[in-house]
Amino acid sequence: MAHHVALPAWVLVTERAALARVTSSLLRPEFCSRCGQPTSRKFIPAEERKRDVCETCGHIHYVNPKIVAGTLPVDHRTVWLVRRAIEPRLGFWTHPAGFMEIGETVEEGAARETREELGTQVEVQKLLGVYSRTRMNTVHIVYLARPLSGPTGGAETLEFASFTPETAPWDRLAFWSTHRALRDWMQMLD
Ligand SMILES: [Zn+2]
Repeated sequence: MAHHVALPAWVLVTERAALARVTSSLLRPEFCSRCGQPTSRKFIPAEERKRDVCETCGHIHYVNPKIVAGTLPVDHRTVWLVRRAIEPRLGFWTHPAGFMEIGETVEEGAARETREELGTQVEVQKLLGVYSRTRMNTVHIVYLARPLSGPTGGAETLEFASFTPETAPWDRLAFWSTHRALRDWMQMLD
């Protein structure tokens, strides 16, 4: 019974800025990752889309979305959030999350990011949601989690605090995915 919630304007502005950065670097490799020579954009008939192809060795560069793994560390009607000490969105609030590493499961990545950013071990519980948007190059997988100790923060965190739905810093959230995850958690409480 998801009631529709319009995303605030700052979310769209943030997305456009993030997309501009991503498009200029990650999504368009200018040089071949295999031989270092320049690439050019070519239509690949079998895949019905354009790719960056090496002009020298023919290597096709596939660029696909990256997984961001995270948790919402909750205790009844409260959730722990962290205020970011790094760009992007320095100074804004979000839940612990970060890029998944090769060699770990999504759940392990989510727990690791929570240790690094909130400074607490968590028991990863059920999946809260999977969040993606066509204009972004990330897929966010967020679990509910139970903190097993008191948080101590982390190097990428300015401060941390627990909030209820009523006290959450809705106008100071870092990302569109933060907004979506918090709303899904709130709806579970109803
Ligand atoms: Zn090449």
